[in-house]
Amino acid sequence: MKKKFKLDTNLVRGGLTRSNFKETSEAIFLNSGFVYDSAEQAEAIFLGKKKGFQYSRYANPTVEMFEKRLALLDGSEACFATASGMAAVFGSMMCQLKAGDHVVSASALFGSCRYILNDILPKFGIEVSFIDGKNIKEWNKSIQKNTKIFFFESPSNPCLEIIDIKQVCNLAKKNKITTIVDNIFASPVLQQPVKFGADVVIYSGTKHIDGQGRAMGGAVCSTNEFKENILKPFLRHTGPCISPFNAWVLLKSLETIKIRVLSQSDNALQIARFLEKHKKIKQVYYPGLKSFPQYALAKKQQSAGGTMIAFKVKGGKKDAFKIINKLNIFDISNNLGDSKSLVTHPTTTTHKVLGEEARLSLGITPNLIRLSIGLEDINDLKEDLANSLK
Ligand SMILES: *Cc1c(COP(=O)(O)O)cnc(C)c1O
Repeated sequence: MKKKFKLDTNLVRGGLTRSNFKETSEAIFLNSGFVYDSAEQAEAIFLGKKKGFQYSRYANPTVEMFEKRLALLDGSEACFATASGMAAVFGSMMCQLKAGDHVVSASALFGSCRYILNDILPKFGIEVSFIDGKNIKEWNKSIQKNTKIFFFESPSNPCLEIIDIKQVCNLAKKNKITTIVDNIFASPVLQQPVKFGADVVIYSGTKHIDGQGRAMGGAVCSTNEFKENILKPFLRHTGPCISPFNAWVLLKSLETIKIRVLSQSDNALQIARFLEKHKKIKQVYYPGLKSFPQYALAKKQQSAGGTMIAFKVKGGKKDAFKIINKLNIFDISNNLGDSKSLVTHPTTTTHKVLGEEARLSLGITPNLIRLSIGLEDINDLKEDLANSLK
């Protein structure tokens, strides 16, 4: 699709290729292989001299439509879809690392991201330093001769820590380090890290992209150069490919992602304001609140505060559980970005794997509750929270 179209048009039509049947909606190519007219053609395609699909582990027409549409939204040159967000995180690192390399990561991370960096990479002789990602001096100090990657989430899961993407990417560029940004919490609607100099951007299709709790998926957005020469050789031979059916669900979801995320974010701001004033609540973390310590930075990078809120209740785990159990509309689920509002207790679920010490150092205390705000009526949501907090 030509670049000249605006975002809303790209979200509905970007990447669309129609088959001979001229179907209106994008087709699901639920096939593993492709046939060739001749042995010579197969040879030419495998040599890369001719364009053509070979095998759905490498590329697939439905998957490709999803990749093109997401790249248009993210503002990246290229995109490679994966089986999940974690496959995207792991693949984007492993495709460029070898024993003896060094990675610097912000310590405020989702449990599985932390596990990859803290438990898996060191087994392969890769050194990892965890730092306070908010502090540019710490990024600078942590650079070694063998540093290959900077990694961070902004906002982070679950306490919504914001990292100055431009500042960190500038430092990385000066030192020939690749910056990988996990943009899952903000979604590509509210934040496009490539605008601030990010080299690689990670998405979970499972979260805001599907946004309706149906399909797992992920994506790595990058330059063409990175995709073709670094990422693709690793992913096509190791095989964390997305199912064409899931890619189709995510592709269709991109048509509505903007209106969903903006609406959910509007709801979230109102909920955050409501929670902030509530006497049973100790602290609210929401980048769209003026009282949020990194409000100004969030405003610079994100077009809105987002769909996620974290808050601490007065008391401990028992009090948090009581509130969670009393909610009626909010479902208890560790997923996020869904059109249904969800509630999570990070200490005992999404961030259990970190261990107590790491959790407490990140402010993930037993009285912390995470909300993912959906598309329900704002007054119903407020009432549900008010009742459970009584
Ligand atoms: C959920 C999540 C992931 C992983 O995505 P999956 O699709 O569940 O594999 C990675 N990073 C963050 C910040 C997440 O919230």
